Amino acid sequence: MYPDYLHGPPAALHTIKLLLIMMLFIQSANAGWLNEDADIMGTRISVELYHANPDLARRGIATVFREMRRIDASMSPYIKSSELARLNAFAQQQPFATSKELFSLIRRSLDFSELTDGAFDITFASVGFLYDYRNRTRPDKTQREKAAALINYRELMLNHHSTTIAFSKPGMRIDLGGIAKGYAVDRCISLLQELGIKQALVTAGGDSRMIGDRWGRPWSIGIRDPRNEDKLAAVIPLLGVAVSTSGDYQRYFEENGVRYHHIIDPGSGDSARELQSVTIIGPDATTTDALSTSVFVLGLESGLELINRMSDIDAILVDQTGQLHYSDNLQSVKKKDDDVKSSAARRTP
Ligand code: ADP
Ligand code: MG
Repeated sequence: MYPDYLHGPPAALHTIKLLLIMMLFIQSANAGWLNEDADIMGTRISVELYHANPDLARRGIATVFREMRRIDASMSPYIKSSELARLNAFAQQQPFATSKELFSLIRRSLDFSELTDGAFDITFASVGFLYDYRNRTRPDKTQREKAAALINYRELMLNHHSTTIAFSKPGMRIDLGGIAKGYAVDRCISLLQELGIKQALVTAGGDSRMIGDRWGRPWSIGIRDPRNEDKLAAVIPLLGVAVSTSGDYQRYFEENGVRYHHIIDPGSGDSARELQSVTIIGPDATTTDALSTSVFVLGLESGLELINRMSDIDAILVDQTGQLHYSDNLQSVKKKDDDVKSSAARRTP
C-alpha cells in the first residue's frame, strides 16, 4: 500500500513539501540551542542558550564554564591557594593587598550588611568554619559563643586607595558563599552578551539569571518543596531577571531533631531556623543571592518587610509549616493562582 498522500491531489504534496521545509527550519533553529551542565564551585552549573551560529553557541558554553572555574580558583575557601584563603590567612596580622575584583565584591557584601542590619555578614565564617555538614560536626555552645563574638562586618578594615583589607580581631574569617555564585552568574551573563548571545539562562546551584526568551516564551523557574526533592512548591514564568533560592536542605545534618544547616544567624552563630526556603527575584544575581541568604536569616516578618521596601525585588518564602508567603508585588500573581485553583475546585465535584 502507498501512503494516502501519494494518491491525493497536488495540493497535498505541496503541503507535505511545506511541512518538510518547516521541519528543516525548526531543526536548524534547534541547532543553535545548547544545554550543558558541569560541576564547579561545589555545585551544579547549568547553561542553556541560543545563537543562530552553532560555533558561537558552543563558545558561549565554554566561556561560562571557564569563568566559573576562574572565580572558584580565586574565591573558594577550600582551595588553599585561592585569593580568599590567602586573605583569611594573612589579614589577621597585616593589611592584605587584594585584587580589584575581590575588593569590590567584599565592598558589595558590606553594602548588604548595612542594608540588612547585619543579617548578611561575610564574617559569619569566624564561626561557620567550625561546622562540617558532611561529617556532622558542629561547635558546642561555648565554642560557638566564643567564635560568634568575632562576627562583625564592621571589624573589616578596607582601604579603598590601596585595595587592602585587614581584620581588626585575630581569629576572624570571611566567606563569600552567600554572594559569590550570584556574582559568577552575573559575570557569565555579561560575557555571553559580549559574545552577542541574546537568549540564555545561567544557573549556579540556587542562583540563576536569564536574558531574552526561551522559544518565544518566558523561562519556567521551579521552586523546590523544601521537604520533598521530587516536588515543586511553585513554578514561576520569568523574563529578564535573576532569581535565587536559599534553603535549609542544601547542606545540613540533624541531631536530636534539630537541623544544623549552612545559613548562619550572625547574632548567635547558630543556624537560622524560622524559614525553610527563601526565593528572591530581582534585577541581578549578586543582589538576589545576597538577599536570599539575608531574608533567610531575617525570618518571615522582618524579611518581608525589607523586600516590600525595595521596589525592584520580589520574594516567596516558605515557613516552617510549608506555607508560602509572597511579597506585596507578587500578591496579584498569588491571587491569580488562587483563583485558578478555586475555580478548578468548583469544577471538580
Ligand atoms: P547556597 O546556594 O550555597 O545554598 P545560599 O545563597 O543559600 O547558598 O547561602 C548560603 C551560604 O552563604 C553558606 O553556605 C555560607 O557560605 C554563606 N552564609 C551563611 N550564613 C551567612 C550570613 N549570615 N551572611 C552571609 N553569608 C552567609
Ligand atoms: Mg545566597
